[in-house]
Amino acid sequence: MIPKLRGHHLICLHFFKGEGYSEDFIKNIYNVLLNQKMQVADGADDICAKCPHLEEGKCASSEYSNEDIKAQDTEALMLLKLETGMVVEWENIAAMLPSILDEWNSLFCYDCGYRKVCFG
Ligand code: SF4
Repeated sequence: MIPKLRGHHLICLHFFKGEGYSEDFIKNIYNVLLNQKMQVADGADDICAKCPHLEEGKCASSEYSNEDIKAQDTEALMLLKLETGMVVEWENIAAMLPSILDEWNSLFCYDCGYRKVCFG
């Protein structure tokens, strides 16, 4: 089965280095990333499914509101030129990152708790 990933996860998970909210959450990310193809999800995805912050299908993170997260998804899909439901090759997204990362970084990474994990 092709895993479903929401917009911002299609970008951020390229920087995954084994850190996350719980052991289950981290293990699930490793499993999802074994796949070469992903389907673009609208809202909570197969990563959120194992996240302790998911409540009633919405992100209840203390760091961001559900609306903030959805705005990140929208921007990510715009930068990647993708739409909900599309199936994408993980490698093709990786190849697009150099051309979009400056903009993504300036919009979202500056105050993200994972900034140090991603960029050292
Ligand atoms: S913090 Fe929110 S967006 Fe991130 S994985 Fe958890 S539920 Fe999903």
